[in-house]
Amino acid sequence: MAECIFCRIVRGEISCDKVYDTGQVVAFKDRNPKAPVHVLVVPRQHIETINDLPRHPELAAEILNAIASVARACGIAESGFRVIGNANRDGGQEVPHVHFHLLGGRQLGAMVSDAS
Ligand code: 5GP
Ligand code: ZN
Repeated sequence: MAECIFCRIVRGEISCDKVYDTGQVVAFKDRNPKAPVHVLVVPRQHIETINDLPRHPELAAEILNAIASVARACGIAESGFRVIGNANRDGGQEVPHVHFHLLGGRQLGAMVSDAS
């Protein structure tokens, strides 16, 4: 996993704008933000896709906690936010290290109902 970009970010080899770190889970600003708040929530452990997360239930719970904590810390818990997890080819996953996008700070489009 030496070349995995998110492994390199969580190891500190590539800089990022970190907003949260529990030891197991790191959150940092997306370099190409799609909303005023666009944070990536990423486990330190290299797990490739959401398909693999059920084997790590404690980590999955910690990721969910991190998402809620970051939403609060970024001031979007009450105004609202969206969490996106892309998986594999059809999901458009570009980085093969599991991560969740936390988006908010503006009215987001009706993305799910458009996804026909
Ligand atoms: P995916 O399509 O895999 O769900 O999303 C990957 C996300 O990672 C993209 O939104 C992209 O902008 C972001 N990203 C890719 N490389 C880097 C990086 O080196 N630093 C940061 N902060 N974000 C990155
Ligand atoms: Zn990785």
